[in-house]
Order: sequence, then structure tokens, then C-alpha cells
Amino acid sequence: MRVRLAPSPTGTLHIGTARTAVFNWLFARRQGGQFLLRIEDTDKERSKPEYTANILEGLQWLGLNWDADPVIQSERIAEHRAAIQQLLDSGRAYRCYASEAELTEMRERQAAENRAPRYDNRHRDLTAEQEQAYIAEGREATIRFRINDDAVITWSDLVRGEMRWAGSDLGGDMVIARRAPADQIGDPLYNLVVVVDDAAMAISHVIRGEDHIANTAKQLLLYEALGAAAPVFAHTPLILNKEGRKLSKRDGVTSVNDFRAQGYTAEALANYMTLLGWSPPEGMDERFSLAEAASVFDFDRVNKAGARFDWDKLNWLNSQVLHERSPEQLLAELQPLWAVQGWDPATGPSGVSAATPTNWALELCALLGPSLTTLADGIEQARPFFERPELNEAALQQLASEGARPALAALLERLPEGALTAEAAQGLLGEAVAAAGVKKGVLMKSLRAALLGSLQGPDLLTTWLLLQPSGEARARISRSL
Ligand code: GLU
Repeated sequence: MRVRLAPSPTGTLHIGTARTAVFNWLFARRQGGQFLLRIEDTDKERSKPEYTANILEGLQWLGLNWDADPVIQSERIAEHRAAIQQLLDSGRAYRCYASEAELTEMRERQAAENRAPRYDNRHRDLTAEQEQAYIAEGREATIRFRINDDAVITWSDLVRGEMRWAGSDLGGDMVIARRAPADQIGDPLYNLVVVVDDAAMAISHVIRGEDHIANTAKQLLLYEALGAAAPVFAHTPLILNKEGRKLSKRDGVTSVNDFRAQGYTAEALANYMTLLGWSPPEGMDERFSLAEAASVFDFDRVNKAGARFDWDKLNWLNSQVLHERSPEQLLAELQPLWAVQGWDPATGPSGVSAATPTNWALELCALLGPSLTTLADGIEQARPFFERPELNEAALQQLASEGARPALAALLERLPEGALTAEAAQGLLGEAVAAAGVKKGVLMKSLRAALLGSLQGPDLLTTWLLLQPSGEARARISRSL
């Protein structure tokens, strides 16, 4: 059992490619097979090494480890040319001298007659004299593979069941090598190189998006012509946006980088991509690890219909993952994001050194963790712990309300320097309330307004204890008075 992911390094790792990778990986792990990579970099203008690096790094981040060094398609061009030569020798392929102008004219005529565009096989059976005449004119040639209109192509698709294509629906004889002088073989094209490489890599199962179905029909003809055994195919459903159209750049995020930058975790994204088209068996939770999914994955549970992208579900999964994180794990993920903001737990709020920066940061993570949906929330929610916030309208009103001032003044009078325990803090609150003669609620609400500049926020006592050692709690209460 050998599967492969064959990304073209013409852009960063796309969510569709990543989802294809997930299905390949799950199937390989379930079956105890090999998950291989092939970098399809034959488009010299658009392929870039930095995209290859991005794709590999993205797969690694998602936890989709592969089993051998990636095959680099551009290093195999001699094999591709040899296969084309074999097809020329066996008469399954031929040179086509039709010029671009002639082909354009042909397509325009077809369009005018409301016919589907297809090559009309005009150079399929040139005589040696006709060929010589074109060569003498200085014409270059593409190489085309014969596709007989009466051919019937069938396969048993692991997702879509019995498939059947008519040769007449494949657009006429297919170009397998770009235009080149007639004594040469031009650059080999996608369908040909994929077949040659998949055969050479002994790929047993090709798992890819359903946008490749027509290619599969063509590729099956090539396997047969080259005398190679065809793999089993599984065509996975496309990812659709909310409106039911193919997910595109306009939907905001298409690259794994984008999700990562928005604070989604690898675990949640991998979990979510698995659910894009696959449903877990009865009794299995929707929140699972890749390893858990791999233990039960099969194509019977992959849908034929397109999979709609559901932000709510992704957000839910991501929050589940973040809520399961230990403070240590969260800190490792949040600290780099905080550093970008210029925040350092070692200096704490307002640049005053926190006595035990790691403990302080871990307590902050423990406080914020349960309310995070994305890691990016861990920036906004941590902000008041690193920067003194402005007082918003609601906070100002609270601070101006009856009893607020005496309550905070009574607390400030009793506030010691340095860290406090929760018990000591509770004690101070009780004393201040008694001294000021206000209800406890007035002091609590006013303290929240003073410390956070807002009436919303995380647990008040913990917030205070975190702002206490650096003197920041005192400074904020004083300011509000
Ligand atoms: N390079 C092709 C793509 O990215 C590979 C398709 C395939 O899996 O055969 O679409």
C-alpha cells in the first residue's frame, strides 16, 4: 500500500492540498502503508523553492509525516521523455504540426457552432510526405496521445463507486509534450508525467480531489498504453464555501499559513480537515486526534457531495484543543505572539519586573486558557496584563457611581506591597467593604473597572493577584481614584 501527495510548488500549502494530504496519510497509517511525497515542479516559471519549503513545513506542522525523501519531478525528465518515445515508437502517440493560429481558428469555429472545444485529430494520420512538408516549412510539433472516441474507460472509485467515461468526452487526442522542433521531444505535460512517476513509485492508491476525475480517465489510457499496472483511485469531494461554491481566495483563507496566522492549532485544523468529507463512525466524538482517526479511517465514510466549510465547527474544535492545553503548552505557543507585541513576562506589566516571571506567565495562561477560541485571542485577552488599559465608558461610569470611591480608597489604604495570596486578598476585600460601608458588589465592580478599564474580563481575584507583585494593581487603583 503506497500513496502519495503530489503538490505543485506554485504557491503556499493550500487547504485543499492539505486535506488531500490528510486523507492520504490516514489511509496509509490505517493500512500500514507508505505515505510518499512528490514535488511536481515541472512548471519552471511558477515553481519556487520557497513554496516547496512552505509545503513541507506545513505538512510537518500538521503532523503529516512522510516515509521517504520527496521525489522531485523535475529530476525525472529523462524517464518522462523515454515514456513519450515509447509511445511514439508504438504508434500510440504522434507529432502534431498544427500551429497555434490554426488551433485557435478551430476552437473559434467550434464555439460559433455551439460545440464543445476539442482537438479534431487533424494530424493523427499524416503521411510521411505531409510530415516532411511541415518540417520543411520550419513548423514545430507538439506530441499527442491517441484517444479513440469509441474507447470506454471504467474504474471502481473508492469514494464514487463505478465510474465510466467515453473516449469522445476527453477532448480529442491529448498533448503530452509541448511544442518543440520536430526532431526533439518538448517538455512533457502533467497527465503523462504523473502516470510515469506514479508507476515508477509503485503507487497503489491515488487519492486526490474530484477535480482530477477527467484526468484519471486520460491517465488510465496512458497506463494501458505504457503497459503499466494502474493504481486504485479515490476522488475526494471538493471543499465548498458557505454558498456552496468551490472555496476560493475570496473566502479569506485558503492557505494553511493563513489559518496558522489567525491562531488555529495544528490539531484542530487537522481534525477539522478530516471532517471535511469524512464522518467518524457511530459513537466516536467529532473531536479526535489524527492517530485516533487513522485507527478507524476508511473510504466508505467519505461523502461524495462537496464539503461545506464551517467556521463555527473549526472554532469549536480549536477552542476544545486550547481548553485541553496545559498552561505550559499554552505559554510555549503564546510567548512568541506576545514577543511580537513587545511583551515580556520577565518585565511584566509596565516594565516592572515580576518576581517569578515563569510562574506569573503560567498563571496568566491558566487564567486565559478556558476562554480562548484562537491563539490570537490570547493576545487581546493578555493585553491588559502587559499594558495599562484606557478606562472605557462603562468603567468610568462605575467609578463615578455611589460608593465606588470610598470602597477603592479603603482598599488602597490597606494594600501591601508585593505578592498576595488569594486568602489575604479576600481578607482585604472584607476589611475595605466594612470600613467604607458599601456592599461587596460595589467594591468588586469598581475594582474590575480600575484594574481592567472595563467591566468585562477574566476572574477578578486572579487578575488582581497577577497585577499585584509589580505594583501595577496599586498604580491602577490610584489612577482610578
Ligand atoms: N500536481 C497535481 C496537483 O497539485 C497533482 C495531482 C495528482 O494528485 O495527481 O493538482
